[in-house]
Amino acid sequence: MGIKENLNHIKSQLPEQVTLVAVSKTKPINEIMEAYNAGQRIFGENKIQEMVDKYEEMPKDIEWHMIGHVQRNKVKYMAEFVSLIHGVDSFKLLKEINKQAKKHDRIINCLLQIKIAKEDSKFGMSAEDASTLLQSDSFSELNHVKIVGLMGMATFTEDMKQVENEFKFLKSTFENLKSLNTDLNIISMGMSGDYELAISCGSTMVRIGSSIFGARNYNN
Ligand SMILES: *Cc1c(COP(=O)(O)O)cnc(C)c1O
Repeated sequence: MGIKENLNHIKSQLPEQVTLVAVSKTKPINEIMEAYNAGQRIFGENKIQEMVDKYEEMPKDIEWHMIGHVQRNKVKYMAEFVSLIHGVDSFKLLKEINKQAKKHDRIINCLLQIKIAKEDSKFGMSAEDASTLLQSDSFSELNHVKIVGLMGMATFTEDMKQVENEFKFLKSTFENLKSLNTDLNIISMGMSGDYELAISCGSTMVRIGSSIFGARNYNN
């Protein structure tokens, strides 16, 4: 199947309240344009420089989401246009995003990344740290960022029961934190291999790459 068919197939399965982020990392412009021409307007990248290059070349009605780990010294390159940063995992990073957003007279929407996986390699903060951050005075002073939800990545495992437990943990963390901060309305969880499970656990935003664009080749 082609990109358009893959996209339409996935969209036909998503409930109305679930937003699709088409993860286009490593994919060339012509392939991303196929998805664009099929109606997709939200794309996710995990490297800032690659996202900037694509932003410059592609139509300006695209919403670009940064879904990868963010280095503070690179926030300035995307501050002008990024529409949602999924991987915010520290106050220091949030402060830098606020500073760069202010230069462009913008408010940048962010998700707090919560560590839900058991693996050491996955980034993210604890539910307790997220709660502390949301209630802190220093956070309330940041007028150019808005935390609109949470993001999580489950463990890379065949054990779907474990993945389900991790998704349920993110959902319950979301419900707890929402009582502190009513701006929270997005739960970003679910990728090609687990988005149906994620949706059944309460996801409102899925990040899907290989099921749309095919497998990634990191060697070219
Ligand atoms: C690459 C990536 C995805 C998409 O992965 P697929 O398995 O190709 O759907 C989703 N989220 C993040 C954070 C990613 O880096």
